[in-house]
Amino acid sequence: MAKAMIIDGKAVAAQLSRDIAKQVDQLQDLHNLTPNLSVVLVGQDPASQTYVRNKNKQVMEVGMTSHQHDLPADIGEEELLTLIRGLNKDPKVNGILVQLPLPAQIDTFKVIGAIDPAKDVDGFNVLNAGALMTGQAGALVPCTPLGCLILIKEHVQSLAGLKAVIVGRSNIVGKPMAQLLLQENCTVTMVHSKSQDLAAECRQADILVAAVGQPELVRGDWIKPGATVIDVGINRILKDDGGTKLVGDVAFDEAATLAGAITPVPGGVGPMTIACMLRNTLYAACCQKDVEVPES
Ligand code: NAP
Repeated sequence: MAKAMIIDGKAVAAQLSRDIAKQVDQLQDLHNLTPNLSVVLVGQDPASQTYVRNKNKQVMEVGMTSHQHDLPADIGEEELLTLIRGLNKDPKVNGILVQLPLPAQIDTFKVIGAIDPAKDVDGFNVLNAGALMTGQAGALVPCTPLGCLILIKEHVQSLAGLKAVIVGRSNIVGKPMAQLLLQENCTVTMVHSKSQDLAAECRQADILVAAVGQPELVRGDWIKPGATVIDVGINRILKDDGGTKLVGDVAFDEAATLAGAITPVPGGVGPMTIACMLRNTLYAACCQKDVEVPES
């Protein structure tokens, strides 16, 4: 029986998007500025196409403009870099997002490194990653961990001194999540595939973030009673009837009996990622044009 409060990421993301829509309105009224996001999609991976379609739709819903650049899967690296250099120079483009993963012939680090850090709304460029790590203001922060932090803060009054455990150390989720929680004065532990006794580490966590990509790896008896559990994982698994369903990296039903609050999958972290991408695009546009971010 679930005891935990269910953290409604869909509702929080919808509120964030409504606030951003108001801010975009004000930017237009005060500065005649409509933020633009340019999305680069290489190849025809169905999951990537769906993500990009959703992003474009939501960009337009908040009143920003969006341009999609569809490139063939066999595009050369230099051609892609040339497109990015053009977008960097274009004053009408405020945000650039290259949908990952990229095909094998392309060096992903090189492509991310080519994006102007001021337009890097994914926050993956090393300059933004470095700014986050060194606590410099103004860094564009990766959208998924930023969304996780917003959800955590909805439910935890003061993070200072709490023990946070992050399962997974990817550049796009685990590592920036650790930096954000460190900035909030949590005591942060990161665990990964080579860590010993994951369960014992997780049982220490007041805040547990799972970003692993392994269906239901985190079991109910890994949860400290009352913990806030953020499940980033999105895994499609087979059901007994032959159909499929989405599950997270946490065994939700088990964990919900002990956790104080927990995100569901779907409907938890996922919607926050896109809302934070909208937020980053707004911030990037304001920063580039040297105008205050309007109050929401
Ligand atoms: P990733 O790059 O594959 O990284 C996975 C991390 O988990 C790695 O650090 C890996 O350790 C660790 N790991 C893998 N198996 C493990 C195990 N058995 N025990 C402990 N650690 C293990 O994945 P990612 O990009 O961070 O994504 C993680 C999950 O989040 C995926 O399900 C992805 O679909 C989802 N995701 C969701 C959103 C969203 O918007 N909701 C956004 C991004 C990602 P090593 O480093 O040792 O290999």
